[in-house]
Amino acid sequence: MFKLTPILLAMLYAVVMYRFSAWRMARELDARSTALADKRLHDLTRRMAESLDLPRIQVHIYEIPQVNGLAAPDGRIFITRGFHDRYRAGEVTAEELASVIAHELGHVALGHSRRRMIDFSGQNAVRVALNMVLGRLLPGLGTLLANLVASLLAARLSRSDEYEADAYAAALLHKAGIGIGPQKSLFRKLEKLSGGAGGAPAWLLSHPMTHERVAALEKLEARWTSVPG
Ligand SMILES: [Zn+2]
Repeated sequence: MFKLTPILLAMLYAVVMYRFSAWRMARELDARSTALADKRLHDLTRRMAESLDLPRIQVHIYEIPQVNGLAAPDGRIFITRGFHDRYRAGEVTAEELASVIAHELGHVALGHSRRRMIDFSGQNAVRVALNMVLGRLLPGLGTLLANLVASLLAARLSRSDEYEADAYAAALLHKAGIGIGPQKSLFRKLEKLSGGAGGAPAWLLSHPMTHERVAALEKLEARWTSVPG
């Protein structure tokens, strides 16, 4: 029983952290978001909703200057004010923004957004548990190792989520008649934007390399277009 105590404590910590983070995130989003009202985008989300047999897809604007898309654990989709401003300025097209919405829808549909919150608190639990064990065996180095293992685990998980969300978005955009062109052109634009001194948009940083994502999309595209009939 004594040996299990750190693990039980870490598990309890993970549950509390998950509840707290989800609650805090929902509150933050409630306080700083508004419904997206844009005719052109509304048109595109309506087409995607029809393809999914949904009555509608509600998108919210999250009032922060960064360029990012977000799927909340409760399934709501957000585009940041920063991203919307780029669209208003003509730097990003409505179709390209729709491809971000489709990607975030993918995270929701595939259960990533909920799991990611669990991953996040689970990651902390792994960190705490490893710290307790390794910290005793290797003072100093133990903490470093524990952090490294926890981050590697998270990075691996989130990479595969991104490819899955991209593939979901590609299928949806294809079905809705929007096509995957905007998805690819947006990746390239974001990469160019990230070349500036301002640093990469958050959305790109948390995602795999652009050329790998474009290559994965092209593979899908080739498979779809080579199917006879
Ligand atoms: Zn993503």
